[in-house]
Amino acid sequence: MESNMDLINKLNRQHQLNSDEWGELLRCNDEKVAKYAEQVAREQAKKIFGNKIYVRGLIEISNYCKNNCFYCGIRRGNTSVERYRLTKEQILACAEEGYALGFRTFVLQGGEDAAFTDVWMCDVISQLRENFPDCAITLSLGERTRESYQAMYDAGANRYLLRHETADKYHYEKLHPEEMSFEHRMECLRILKDIGYQVGCGFMVGSPGQTIASLVKDMELITKLQPEMVGIGPFVPHHATPFAKEEQGTVRQTLYLLSLIRILKPDVLLPATTSLGTIDPRGREKGILAGANVLMPNLSPTAVRKQYELYDNKICTGDEAAECRNCLENRVKAIGYELVVDRGDAPSFQ
Ligand code: SAM
Repeated sequence: MESNMDLINKLNRQHQLNSDEWGELLRCNDEKVAKYAEQVAREQAKKIFGNKIYVRGLIEISNYCKNNCFYCGIRRGNTSVERYRLTKEQILACAEEGYALGFRTFVLQGGEDAAFTDVWMCDVISQLRENFPDCAITLSLGERTRESYQAMYDAGANRYLLRHETADKYHYEKLHPEEMSFEHRMECLRILKDIGYQVGCGFMVGSPGQTIASLVKDMELITKLQPEMVGIGPFVPHHATPFAKEEQGTVRQTLYLLSLIRILKPDVLLPATTSLGTIDPRGREKGILAGANVLMPNLSPTAVRKQYELYDNKICTGDEAAECRNCLENRVKAIGYELVVDRGDAPSFQ
């Protein structure tokens, strides 16, 4: 059997592994191997992106959601959340503020809110496209029909983030109620790719029921789908969900997975997430040093930040957009990187 260091070298040469090799590498819990992966990942990221860190301005447009995912704080069944939905004017104002702060990508994220009809969404998207022609528009609004994805693309959206959550059907069914389907999630990702979106998939690290076998499937899905972005962050319990008492994901495993994903797909856009920053005050810096190259600070109005609580103790819920940006700028500088004013398209889309 090859050593784990050899497997990392092999992954770095071939950008794929078979499932036994993945299993071996993912099972490994040796600090030396993790450090080696981190070093290789960081070199790869530097080769392609230099010391640039891309920023995406996250606008959390609604916390209404028709879904009841067992892990999520804004699930339909959580009756203790005060629900909100931003108006078109509020969304445009957030983007205006973000533009002045140097953001050239806006991410509109929200629960699956029935009020976001295609007509409503396309109106917002075309207005953003008109006001900010040099910006990328990213959507993260969950599962919709092909027609809907196509209409929003035609209105000017460029990218779509839809975490697959887990590539293991059995595990998917442990995380979601019966009315949600693994096959439909996968189908949505295929449709988004087919339409021409830059696509982001991803999963939570350490979500209840996650096994090495399910992580192997995640790696194989990334190899097959070739997404432009992969969003991974630790699972963090939310007190008003069925998973309130479950254990949170670890920093260590998240960093190791970030490194492996960077080596698997060197040009991928890989965020150091807010959830990583939530479980470790230096989580996002550690994420960058493990191979991440994207940060997604919050541009949502401060008044509603606390209500978009996907998990407990989410950071930055009280800060103004400008404070978030400055804070990240300083954090990134301190580790030898710089935030860039750039759309930061996936290299394959430039
Ligand atoms: N509704 C859209 C969707 O389903 O893609 C976007 C919003 S959803 C809240 C965004 C992501 O938050 C999910 O894909 C999930 O991975 C993450 N998330 C939800 N609850 C979480 C938790 N307890 N810990 C960490 N991440 C969580």
